[in-house]
Amino acid sequence: MADRKYKFSWDLLGDIALGRPNLGPNTRLEVYRLMQFAFRDVMEQHLGTEKTDHIFYEAGKLAAVEFYKKVFSNIKDFNEFVKCLRETLRDMGIGILRFEEADIEKGAFVLTVSEDLDCSGLPELGYEICTYDEGFIAGLLESFTGSPYKVKEVDCWCTGDRTCRFTAKVIK
Ligand SMILES: [Zn+2]
Repeated sequence: MADRKYKFSWDLLGDIALGRPNLGPNTRLEVYRLMQFAFRDVMEQHLGTEKTDHIFYEAGKLAAVEFYKKVFSNIKDFNEFVKCLRETLRDMGIGILRFEEADIEKGAFVLTVSEDLDCSGLPELGYEICTYDEGFIAGLLESFTGSPYKVKEVDCWCTGDRTCRFTAKVIK
């Protein structure tokens, strides 16, 4: 694929202030979820469940890598990174982040996201749904540490919990 139509760039997101002088930068959360679950449905029909989840994970990771470059790339101290990340995710309405365990030497983390954009309030489904978030967290940790990470959601609103909990481990 030499000529790609959709290679990510922040420019693709456009000038929101110019484009929406009256409506502004916000929309209703159900619109975001409508789009996400419509993508999931159609992708699953075309590609199967496993590949759909994989694409969501990869997309989350790409988003985080780009987001990191834009917002956090000058931060060197881990505690400062965590503080800034927490504030940014809260201010943007993405979720309320908390690191429950952080061992940067071992490359092992447990973190929670409450009031998560993707899943808070969803019905109990018996499986975790926040695959995009898994990739997003992996992308953030990889960008900060320079090492590859595997992130797995272990608790989710969809498994009957009231926060999403993720384990992150460095890939050796
Ligand atoms: Zn979740």
